Amino acid sequence: MFDTLSDRLTSVLQNLRGKGKLSDADIDASAREIRIALLEADVALPVVREFIKHVKERAKGSEVSQALNPAQQVIKIVNEELIAILGGETRRLNLAKNPPSVIMLAGLQGSGKTTLAGKLALWLKKQGHAPLLVACDLQRPNAVTQLQVVGERAGVTTFAPEPGNGVGDPVDVARRSIEEARRAQHDVVIVDTAGRLGVDEELMRQAADIRDAVTPDETLFVVDAMIGQDAVTTAEAFRDGVGFSGVVLTKLDGDARGGAALSVRHVTGEPILFASNGEKLEDFDVFHPDRMASRILGMGDMLTLIEQAEQAFDQEKAEQAAAKLGTGELTLEDFLEQMQAVRRMGPIGNLLGMLPGAGQMKDQLAQVDDAHLDRLQAIIRGMTPAERANPKMINASRRQRIARGSGVTVRDVNDLVNRFFEARKMMQQMAGRFGFGPGTSATK
Ligand code: GDP
Repeated sequence: MFDTLSDRLTSVLQNLRGKGKLSDADIDASAREIRIALLEADVALPVVREFIKHVKERAKGSEVSQALNPAQQVIKIVNEELIAILGGETRRLNLAKNPPSVIMLAGLQGSGKTTLAGKLALWLKKQGHAPLLVACDLQRPNAVTQLQVVGERAGVTTFAPEPGNGVGDPVDVARRSIEEARRAQHDVVIVDTAGRLGVDEELMRQAADIRDAVTPDETLFVVDAMIGQDAVTTAEAFRDGVGFSGVVLTKLDGDARGGAALSVRHVTGEPILFASNGEKLEDFDVFHPDRMASRILGMGDMLTLIEQAEQAFDQEKAEQAAAKLGTGELTLEDFLEQMQAVRRMGPIGNLLGMLPGAGQMKDQLAQVDDAHLDRLQAIIRGMTPAERANPKMINASRRQRIARGSGVTVRDVNDLVNRFFEARKMMQQMAGRFGFGPGTSATK
């Protein structure tokens, strides 16, 4: 997603580097190229117009700063305008003061509503909530079962009409689910509604009836980012037919051009709350306009990276490892734990893709594969605890045994062991220089 747009914007902005001063002609030329890049990315025309107008006005205007060079100024302006069309501040989910809070999902069939219900439930559960999933899509025969499966995967309860009573009334199910939530002390109710292949009146009426029955705290319009320009017309139809308080973009992992993401907020006036980027329940996050903008501009998404690192990071173990650094006691067991922490952060290619400048390193990044990390882990797992704790004892015959056991060559094992010793030595030197290690407080 956004790859082409990102490449084009980066090259427009790079062309400005090295210019001592920007003439109006320079600004106009850049604005023209940015306009083409946005249109090619499928961004809606009114959004493109407004964007370009602001960028031009600001670049030519009085705000031009002495501290930045011309290219930096334009990058800053483009970045700020991208953040603005993506919605500005990150908008958090509104939950009711008096539970249960009700979140209703609406959108076309196939937009990813049911999957989203599971993702949202898991996300809320991780924050200590007790969500209840509610199956109000009673038209599609499989929809209820699909929600139940997703609910099981997320480890949350699903409320659905009793099977065998024919097609139930979704409004009635929605109403009863609130009573059930009170009874069983669920503090958030997530209502999955029926979608259609296209926008139709019946669909809108049903969604509006469910809305009136449960008065949601949030109505989230779920839209597949791959549908391009249609996202905008669909969003308008749902805004007028049902109304919504926020948008969720799904399938941001696809190779679509990204125009939907850039248009929907501006066209509907409602904020994007979440983004989905995969079929797994974990492929989901709060939508941060500023981070998305910096990603589009190829400046990397350091904040997301840091946040993910924090989640995967085991403070206590890291402190133990840091304390061992100075004494050179770091073992292969510690090394394995560190590697596992990195792997928990997600596929390594994704992580590296978030680093600044990563856009230009795509080919190299493609070679850093998870398989390599996994192979290193397999080799360490093929060692005995004694060998992990004291790598010096790994002699030639042990290396042969480890290679056989983990299905690699002796050279692979040699590589790993040698690199480990090098790394340990280097860390020991660094620990000496920066004064952390045993007996100091720098690791706390
Ligand atoms: P619904 O009809 O709106 O309930 O849509 P579903 O939740 O059934 O999703 C439709 C299809 O899209 C399913 O095959 C999902 O696995 C897939 N899907 C949902 N969200 C994403 C996403 O963020 N990325 C990708 N690649 N696929 C998704």
